[in-house]
Amino acid sequence: MSIVERLRADRNLPDEELKTLLESDRFDEELFKAADEVRRSVYGTEVFLRGLIEFTNYCKNDCLYCGIRRSNTADRYRLSKERILDCCKTGYKLGYRTFVLQGGEDPFYTDDVLCEIVSSIRHFYPGCAITLSIGERSEESYRRLFESGANRFLLRHETADEEHYAILHPGEMSLANRKQCLFNLKKTGYQVGSGFMVGSPYQTMHNIISDLRFLQELSPDMIGIGPFLPAAGTPFENFPQGSVKLTLRLISVLRLMFPHALIPSTTALGTLHPQGRELGLKAGANVVMPNLSPVEYRGKYSIYDNKICTGEESAQCKDCLRMRIESAGYEISDSVGDVRRVY
Ligand code: SAH
Repeated sequence: MSIVERLRADRNLPDEELKTLLESDRFDEELFKAADEVRRSVYGTEVFLRGLIEFTNYCKNDCLYCGIRRSNTADRYRLSKERILDCCKTGYKLGYRTFVLQGGEDPFYTDDVLCEIVSSIRHFYPGCAITLSIGERSEESYRRLFESGANRFLLRHETADEEHYAILHPGEMSLANRKQCLFNLKKTGYQVGSGFMVGSPYQTMHNIISDLRFLQELSPDMIGIGPFLPAAGTPFENFPQGSVKLTLRLISVLRLMFPHALIPSTTALGTLHPQGRELGLKAGANVVMPNLSPVEYRGKYSIYDNKICTGEESAQCKDCLRMRIESAGYEISDSVGDVRRVY
């Protein structure tokens, strides 16, 4: 059996063979084909859309790679509950059945404030999924938000290597806490997403293998990866961007290791390559996250430079995405898009 066939059959490979697969272009054709077959066997040609609402760019953290880190100069904004509900209304009309609230870690949004926002969305959209992507909080906070109606949570571990984590983050943050948050979220009952950046500064192939091993331990429902892109004003502004090829190979490897996973073809991939998101879908991704934030704020949620889709209205984004998804050979699903753990 070829190395790709073995990864597909066992959903696993020894470290050395994973490295071989990721480092060479010899297996690309076979790898992408196998990943697409597995994706089709679990999810058919369906692509799930998640309406992304970037509701605040205030952040108390100082992650060295991130354009909205607290020590970077940025034009800060936060959205009111009414404004967030307007975004949901627009999204619902466009057919989106999942709303993702993403933001910096903004102390303005206390549990009381956020629970009020989440319960309002839950009230108006009982059949929709509410996903939070708001960083590290206490177990109690995750529980209260879950009880208010949130049911999915995205929290990338960013890197599963202690030393590498310490290079990317300020001293007061720790990998141990990040992991603890992920296990707390699972325990609380959320569908949980994790993931990492590809090509972040000082990342080695050894680090990437650790990321895959950590994901095996966590067994998340969603796995988001995207290339690192430099952000102006950060300590890493002059570092090279991540590689499209390696990101695509990793999407395929993830699909073969986690056949059930919801894997987005990320905006970062679309920023790095004009057809990045189509290529991601063909490599095994099955989720796209169109931006639903009000256009006047989109440019301000600048976690990295040159982010795409900051100028168009949400309706235009939807038309553009439909075209891209169909051109890649898939179709937009109108379902809420829960994970299918068929294995
Ligand atoms: N504050 C939330 C949301 C962070 S933004 C949290 O901590 O989870 C979502 C993701 O964007 C991050 O998890 C990170 O992986 C990614 N990101 C941040 N800066 C980036 C950069 N410069 N290049 C590529 N991805 C980046």
